[in-house]
Amino acid sequence: MAGMDHNDVLFSRARAVIPGGVNSPVRAFRAVGGTPRFVQRAQGPHFWDADGRRYIDYIGSWGPMILGHGHPAVLEAVQKAALDGFSFGAPTEREIELAEAIIALVPSLEMVRLVSSGTEAGMSAIRLARGATGRKTIVKFEGCYHGHADALLVKAGSGLATFGNPTSAGVPPEVVQHTMVLEYNNLAQIEAAFAEHGADIACVIIEPIAGNMNFVRASVPFMARCRELCSRHGALLVFDEVMTGFRVALGGAQSVYAGLIPGFEPDMTVMGKVIGGGMPLAAFGGKRAVMEQLAPLGPVYQAGTLSGNPVATACGLATLAEIRKPGFFDALSAKTRALVNGLTAEAESAGVPFAADCEGGMFGFFLLPGLPQNYAAVMKSDGARFNTLFHGLLDRGVYIAPALYEAGFVSAAHTDEDIAATLAAAREVFAAL
Ligand SMILES: *Cc1c(COP(=O)(O)O)cnc(C)c1O
Repeated sequence: MAGMDHNDVLFSRARAVIPGGVNSPVRAFRAVGGTPRFVQRAQGPHFWDADGRRYIDYIGSWGPMILGHGHPAVLEAVQKAALDGFSFGAPTEREIELAEAIIALVPSLEMVRLVSSGTEAGMSAIRLARGATGRKTIVKFEGCYHGHADALLVKAGSGLATFGNPTSAGVPPEVVQHTMVLEYNNLAQIEAAFAEHGADIACVIIEPIAGNMNFVRASVPFMARCRELCSRHGALLVFDEVMTGFRVALGGAQSVYAGLIPGFEPDMTVMGKVIGGGMPLAAFGGKRAVMEQLAPLGPVYQAGTLSGNPVATACGLATLAEIRKPGFFDALSAKTRALVNGLTAEAESAGVPFAADCEGGMFGFFLLPGLPQNYAAVMKSDGARFNTLFHGLLDRGVYIAPALYEAGFVSAAHTDEDIAATLAAAREVFAAL
């Protein structure tokens, strides 16, 4: 096997038994081309592929690994929990502790329910919003991802404030007929949607800082107006903070908007990623009156064999204990800012059009002259140039998301040396773009 790349070998083995060789599509490198790196192990801010090559990791499992890989306190908590049992199908004290910890950090939450994935949390939150309001219509925004539940796999229809079309085979149009898809940051469209359908809207679900179209902030006037319209029409404002929760700030993106809009709160919040610290764990929560509509108290059914799993909750609790320490987010934000400022400076000196933004430990950059405000503008980013950039960085041991519409993540384990090495790699790659 001399000269054989082990990633190639694994990829062909994988493709024989797993569709596309991957268990989640973006891992397949379809957007950027080439062979996905099969990860052997990870430590701190690095992982090693099947050939033993080391990469600086700016995906961090798409967000959960905010402490970096193999944090000693988290490892210890997980090992200890595993010895006490993997799963019981009966309640545990640790579920209460995690629910209490989440509620203590996010003031808009009075109760939470734990589940196993962000998809499950988003799907359940929508069902609950519909059940609690007795309404059918949900409003989402183009470019926001809320997991792969049928009713959410939908793109905008033609024309203003119309209902959407499925984006996946296997989703009948009837299943998305109550889902409206509007343009992100478009005040006129949300006004029109409520003017026409306000009495039927159960909820507006939004990624407050959208991380599934790279990194796009909801503008303050737009967010304030979403809040007002939901309140006035009796719809629930649902924040999907699966990515931003405990990542952009200790209190999530909602704490950022609460600092900009007096009294601001969403009605419900969907969480995942960081709260599991790398284990399958997610949650949704809100006010008591809404949450008590869930079974076994109320008529909205929701359940899960592995929900509140004892090993996952131990991992989540240990992770939250670390990020709650004083100064954690200041240090993480400073690192992310140093990376983003450095990349911007390198692109500028190479004459590459570039715009970047960050909040806490999450960042995004675009090969565009300015920051986009919606999905259509994001997709104007130069895909061919991005692919050259991606592979240039990968060849130099820097692993960023393999698609231009994905955000990036910095962990507390990234050092100044990691950032400096990343910028040195970027300098070479930008010079050749
Ligand atoms: C990742 C993500 C989800 C889906 O979470 P899974 O755990 O992958 O099912 C939902 N919403 C947002 C905003 C996400 O980033």
